[in-house]
Order: sequence, then C-alpha cells, then structure tokens
Amino acid sequence: MKLTVKPLKQKDAGRGLAAIDRVSMRELDLENGDYIVIEGKDDSQAVARVWPGYPEDEGRGIVRIDGRLRQEADVGIDDNVSVEPADVKPANSVTVALPQNLRIRGDIGPLVRDKLSGQAVAEGQTVPFSLSFGPMASSGQSVPLKIASADPSGTVVITDSTNIEISETPAEQVSSEAGESPEGVPNITYEDIGGLDDELDQVREMIELPMRHPELFQQLGIEPPKGVLLHGPPGTGKTLMAKAVANEIDAHFETISGPEIMSKYYGESEEQLREVFEEAEENAPAIIFIDELDSIAAKREEAGGDVERRVVAQLLSLMDGLEERVRVTVIAATNRVDAIDPALRRGGRFDREIEIGVPDKGGRKEILQVHTRGMPLSEDIDLDHYAENTHGFVGADLESLAREGAMNALRRIRPDLDLESDEIDAEILESLEVTETDVKEAMKG
Ligand code: ADP
Repeated sequence: MKLTVKPLKQKDAGRGLAAIDRVSMRELDLENGDYIVIEGKDDSQAVARVWPGYPEDEGRGIVRIDGRLRQEADVGIDDNVSVEPADVKPANSVTVALPQNLRIRGDIGPLVRDKLSGQAVAEGQTVPFSLSFGPMASSGQSVPLKIASADPSGTVVITDSTNIEISETPAEQVSSEAGESPEGVPNITYEDIGGLDDELDQVREMIELPMRHPELFQQLGIEPPKGVLLHGPPGTGKTLMAKAVANEIDAHFETISGPEIMSKYYGESEEQLREVFEEAEENAPAIIFIDELDSIAAKREEAGGDVERRVVAQLLSLMDGLEERVRVTVIAATNRVDAIDPALRRGGRFDREIEIGVPDKGGRKEILQVHTRGMPLSEDIDLDHYAENTHGFVGADLESLAREGAMNALRRIRPDLDLESDEIDAEILESLEVTETDVKEAMKG
C-alpha cells in the first residue's frame, strides 16, 4: 500500500515509530505494535514499529516517521512510499558499539535494552540512544549507538529478554550500512525544531522542492531561488532550520560566519568566500549558510568601509555566478533585516525572505519537548506549565533551561560521581532522574 511520508511530532521522534492513521492501519491489517517495512528509493528500506497516527491524520493515507527512518529509507517528506507488514524476529542477542568518547564502568546493557526495547534494528545501523549526561550529550541530543551484530541475523526486535553486549570496538570503527549521512551533512532533522511548522513549510517549498525536483522548475520555466533570507531574533532556530533542510535532502553544508569573515586580513575575506562557493559547487547539492549577513552586507551608506564594499561585491558576483544547473542554495540569517544592503535583496539574490519569530506558548512547548526528549524526566514535570511561564523565551533560552535542569539533577548525585574519572558509572546513569525541583531551580536561573 502506498502512503505519504510526513514528519513525526517532536516528542515522538527517536523511537523507531511509524505513526499511521487508523484507516490505513485497518487496510493493511496492522495493529498497534506490529512492524512494517517502508520501501523507499533504490531498494532502501526502513523497518519501524506501527503506532496509531494522530487524530488529524485520519483517512489521509499518511505514514509519519522521523528523520532517521526517512534517511534509512532514503525518502523525503511528501514522498509516496510503499508500506508492507514486516516479518521481524525477536533478538536473542545484540552487540552495540558505543562512541569512542563515552566510557562506561559497569554494565550498561540493561539501560540500553530498556531504552531500545521494541525497536527494530539490524547490523550496521545507527540508532539514537538518549542520554542526557556524559561528555557528548547535550540536552535533547542523543548518543549514536552502532549495531555491531545481531542474533539471529537480519532485522530483529529488541525485547526485554534480549541480551545486550557492548562491543570492544568503538562505534566509529564499526562499518556502516547505507543510510548514513556522508561527511559534511549535518544530522539535525525536522523533528529537532519546535514551533516553526509554517516557516518550515516555506523553507521546504523554497529550498527542498527545487533541489529535490529541479525538473519541475525547468518544465515550468521558473528559476528556483538562489538565496533565502531568514530573519528574526537570535536563538530562534535559523541555523537549525538551515542544517535540517540540508540534512533532509542530503546536501553538503558550508557555513560562513559574517563577523568572522570580516575579521580577515585584506583580501582574505573575498578569497574565503570564493573558496566556500567553490567547495559547495564541487559537492553539490549543497547549502551555503551565511550567519549574521548584516555584518558583511550592511547597507553601503551605513557601512561605508572599503572592505565591506569589496566583500559585498564579491558575494554578489558569486551569487550571480551560481549556475542554475548546479544545485547550490544560499541561506542567510540576520536579526537586522533592515540593515541589509538592498542590492542583496533583489531578484536572483536573496529574493525570498522568511521571518522567524519568537515562539508562542505552543511553540515553546514543542521546543521543550525537543530538548527534554532524551531526558529521564520525572512524572511530575508538567511541560505545559513551563511553556506557559516562559513568555519571551526563544529556542536557545528554552534549551538552556532544559540543560540547566539536567545539570541540577547531575549536581544532586555529584557526591557519588568521580569527576576525575572519564568513565561514567552505569548504575549512576540508570538512577538519574530530572525532577520538578531541578527544573524549577533552573527557572530561577
Ligand atoms: P539562530 O540561528 O536563530 O540564532 P540557532 O538555530 O543557532 O539560532 O539556535 C541555537 C540553539 O537553540 C539551537 O542549537 C537549539 O538547540 C536551540 N533552538 C533555537 N530555536 C529552536 C527551535 N525552534 N526548536 C528547537 N530548538 C531551538
């Protein structure tokens, strides 16, 4: 049966779920907790656990999967995929490889089993493991675990009686299957962004669609945009959106920081701009992200300086020189849209603009869900309450609220923690919990 791919809601990502509306579930003779195989492009496929879709999806023929599964199946949002029931066996034993810089003392097997229970995995796959503590886990981020081997072979489901072994070889050295991001592609997905659904739709229409289907634009004789300007206050998710769209279309990602490029020696700024554009063209499809565009391209009368004039001229000529058939899109971000040189906002340059505002209550809740997704939150934490009481907070503030909450949890157990050691005790990890008091304290800042 053919279904249309949509993203999952932020809070449901990272668990190997496929949310399918009930009508389609019935047609496919599926029940909650069954497994399906999603067939994407060129024989790519992903196995997921079925879960009844959101009420608003009823009868729309939708399958919602998160960025990792979309990548495994090599599909994008709005693609049609074939979905069939999958035959998966329970795993007797699974060997997982941890990232090199995550060193655990004791047996972390039970914790891994607990978190991955119910997920379908196969050798060579990378699965996210939510861990809010440790050297590489910032809030909301998860640690990538590699499945080094599975018994029986093939796709298996981790159950409560699966034996989890930890591989001696770190994840980085275990060979991967397809579906992994090539280097230079960020691993942010749409589910990592909260409160910007409409803005994401616009980004997808302006950037994802033309890059995915250039033929449509050729057919219609319209030029896909070369540049899109995202504007709004700092910390609202502009960088995040640029990275997510690059990841979703598997595009190479280059960043230019406005202030950094302006701090170069005479002539070096232009040189570096040229290099970045070259690199992008060589690795196309590519996205070039220019942060704080205003620091490069302030209105000429305002900037006045000779350096600014030259750098803007260089940027203009590089953008004008981007050929239509090379799929390179430039996304620029600024919090001072009025300060941008109008020459850059004309046709063929940054001629599309999307405003990224401060999130409302619903947006704040989604952002909190993103950043607490990996955390062991105690039951009494009410994210609605925090969404309600954080008026004026942007994404970056909410992220740091979540992180501070987790830090407070960490401080509570600090007496048991050997801070000198770079190993973490498995037992301590298992006992960690972020409580209401931890978050309340974090709010007081
Ligand atoms: P900007 O580019 O708008 O200044 P960033 O995208 O760099 O902001 O945001 C900084 C951090 O704040 C992000 O890495 C992310 O952790 C968090 N953040 C900001 N906006 C959002 C959002 N809408 N959803 C989830 N997290 C967000």
